[in-house]
Amino acid sequence: METEARKENILNYLPEELETVITELGEKKFRATQLFGWLAKGVSDFDDMKNVPAALRTRLAESYYIGLPEVVRKQQSKDGTVKCLFRFYDGAEVESVFMKYEYGNSICISSQVGCRMGCTFCASTMDGLERSLTGGEMLGQVLAMRNLTGEEIGHVVVMGMGEPFDNYEALSGFIRLIHEKKGYDLGLRNITVSTCGLIPMIRRFAIDFPQVNLAVSLHAPNQELRERTMPVARKYNYDDLMKACREYTELTGRRITFEYAVIDGVNDSAACARELASGLKGWLTHVNLIPLNEVKGREYKTANGRSVAAFKQILESSGVAVTVRRTLGSDIDAACGQLRRKKQCD
Ligand code: SF4
Repeated sequence: METEARKENILNYLPEELETVITELGEKKFRATQLFGWLAKGVSDFDDMKNVPAALRTRLAESYYIGLPEVVRKQQSKDGTVKCLFRFYDGAEVESVFMKYEYGNSICISSQVGCRMGCTFCASTMDGLERSLTGGEMLGQVLAMRNLTGEEIGHVVVMGMGEPFDNYEALSGFIRLIHEKKGYDLGLRNITVSTCGLIPMIRRFAIDFPQVNLAVSLHAPNQELRERTMPVARKYNYDDLMKACREYTELTGRRITFEYAVIDGVNDSAACARELASGLKGWLTHVNLIPLNEVKGREYKTANGRSVAAFKQILESSGVAVTVRRTLGSDIDAACGQLRRKKQCD
């Protein structure tokens, strides 16, 4: 691992960048396509790239490493959900979750080690931000999870630890890497990025990646309530956020998803539901009500089933599309950041 700190993670490289690497090593360009294809297959050693000449493999290994994270801890739920604590070359650890849905397998990946956004119900932010991940390290989570489960993964959600728009360049790199035809070839519509509401980046994302799905963690129907749980609201005001979201739907023609973690006694009242409904009426939106994953050390409790159902009904009767997120992996530490913290506490 220490030697890897002095090498470059080759998973960060797009095909055209690999071509430069390869031609600088005196080889023909087509070797870059071979190399990129092998990396997308999830190989962990240059020597597994059988159609790449041995001399080239040796020279690559001198300067580069394949940054697949190692599995530190794995939890498997009865419903097929697999939650992993992954470790990178420098010891940084992140969580990823594999989930089975009717429409196919999905993975939720992390974009940063920790988070500096400070949402008061979230475990990932409790120790602040350690560092951001590279695009290759985000891709590495998908490849390592596929290797681990032996299952194809057709949907990626960037909703794990970290705020993706706080690491925008690496996020862009990841989307390009995983979408690349010569590699993993994942459709842009099969990718969802979730933000806590960094307005300038929402605008940029709408232009850069209009086909990628966007989810916004809203968790409140107004500024006052949002500020109580999400410090980011002090910088990016509720009304401005809603304006940026509306512009996003107009520019992309795509529905925006609002995530709403329903917290007992905080944001689960009928008044909150009515206020949210009136703000979203007539929009191209979808509200995802999430039963809160309770986190050790945080006082919040998930709202009970009755108030979630009543909340949903109020939104529905106003014509707002709404679903209650299916609880997956409830028998394991499903809330993001909990597995990493659990390990730190062991
Ligand atoms: S909810 Fe997301 S943005 Fe907020 S602290 Fe947690 S990881 Fe960061």
